[in-house]
Amino acid sequence: MLKIFNSFSKKLEEFVPIRHDGKVRMYACGPTVYSYPTIGNWRTYVLSDLFLRVLQIKGYRVDFVMNLTDVGHLTGDNLGNADTGEDRLEKAAAKEKKTAWDIAKFYGDDFMDSFGKLNLIKPRLFSKATDHIKEQIDLVQRIEKAGFAYKITDGIYFDVAEYEKKGNVYGELSNLEEIKPGARVEINSEKRDQRDFALWKFFPAGEKRDMEWDSPWGMGFPGWHIECSAMSMKYLGEQLDVHIGGEDLKSTHHPNEIAQSESVTGKKPFVRYWMHGAFLLVDGGRMGKSLGNAYTLHDIIEKGYSPMALRYYYLSAHYRKKMNFSWEGMEGVSNSYKRLKKEFLALRVEGGQDKNIFGSKVEVELSGREVFFRDEFVSAVEDDLNMSAALAVTRVVLKDEKLNSFEKRRLVENFDKVFGLKLSERDEIPADIPEEVMEMVNKREEMRKTKQWSESDALRKEIEAKGYKVSDFFDGVTVEKV
Ligand code: AMP
Ligand code: ZN
Repeated sequence: MLKIFNSFSKKLEEFVPIRHDGKVRMYACGPTVYSYPTIGNWRTYVLSDLFLRVLQIKGYRVDFVMNLTDVGHLTGDNLGNADTGEDRLEKAAAKEKKTAWDIAKFYGDDFMDSFGKLNLIKPRLFSKATDHIKEQIDLVQRIEKAGFAYKITDGIYFDVAEYEKKGNVYGELSNLEEIKPGARVEINSEKRDQRDFALWKFFPAGEKRDMEWDSPWGMGFPGWHIECSAMSMKYLGEQLDVHIGGEDLKSTHHPNEIAQSESVTGKKPFVRYWMHGAFLLVDGGRMGKSLGNAYTLHDIIEKGYSPMALRYYYLSAHYRKKMNFSWEGMEGVSNSYKRLKKEFLALRVEGGQDKNIFGSKVEVELSGREVFFRDEFVSAVEDDLNMSAALAVTRVVLKDEKLNSFEKRRLVENFDKVFGLKLSERDEIPADIPEEVMEMVNKREEMRKTKQWSESDALRKEIEAKGYKVSDFFDGVTVEKV
């Protein structure tokens, strides 16, 4: 039985989708594409990927959508007032002397590239806010019609008090302190209630912007929260099974999404299960651009670590616990990852191990011992995604004296459908192997194929003299720095 912690009920709950069509509708708040995502952001996206993979081995078809915020996310902190400050994209554009459109394209492409490098399964759709301005305007109009919107000098706002008067509850996901009126950074005296938030913003008079749209209320741009309500409704319907994001979004962004959506759908619960990932810290403290420790996947790769080692790092801590990143930790984790992969690849058996061993679609007859370890693994991942326990099962499997290599390989290859660590892919060369060395490695492979043993041995020595070690396996080689 799959159990997950629902941040809405604040309880561990059995996961049961709303509809009984074998489909799970899942939405994750994606990045604001104005700079490189940090390894903190990636922790949250890996969480949604892990959950997606667990749902898949359970046999669900997952309809997954992630948005890309490419407009209108203001610099007022996620925890504070997102309706104030400068537009993050316009600000980055001014700094990099590009247009906001160029910024969104550049960082959006970079996001996709890193998404692949971290072996994240692509959603059915990455939906961009700028491609859905009409849907956002339509939704604001519906909210207005329902009587929950009003206009002030700088925009159209959602009326929280009115929403409550109609019997709705606002802010159930939040820590109450955070949404108390006045707890925000800046007070807008025109707002009826300080909890009210922008649905549509007008440009300050005389300001020139790259991104602007006409609307029934005049030129402007959408408020940050409306895109998620509008796009999830368009692609996944009025009710989602699961909605995922980082824990900071619990305070305002997600309560606002709930209010926007439920204000027009007749109080139908917008989301059944809310999942929030805890933050990644760096050296025990907050990660921030101004602190110089907002590391990106590019930093990880530049320092010679595989993106898969970073993924392994994330798996080592429970997603609801704050996790600390340090370069020493990265080094340790990278070694553990390499060891695991090496042990796995040393199982010299070919073919057929990847047959499915999960759910009702088991494709092979498993030995009693395989069933035992498979079930251990499944109960770990079903226990609110206890990945470190699942990794521990994997290590025990690899060391087990009664399982044969074939069974071990079959089990671990299947476990990796959830881990996504590319354990069976030999071609994942760590980024710190220079091209010159790789050429020598490839040349040596050619020699081995044509049985030129003494030449290939000589080349191995040359490679070693350069400080790299080559290990041969029945279906290829691995190279590592020594
Ligand atoms: P943003 O681009 O700021 O909207 O953030 C994208 C996603 O990353 C959101 O789900 C955030 O909650 C999440 N996030 C931001 N910072 C961190 C962090 N340090 N650790 C984990 N997740 C984070
Ligand atoms: Zn969102």
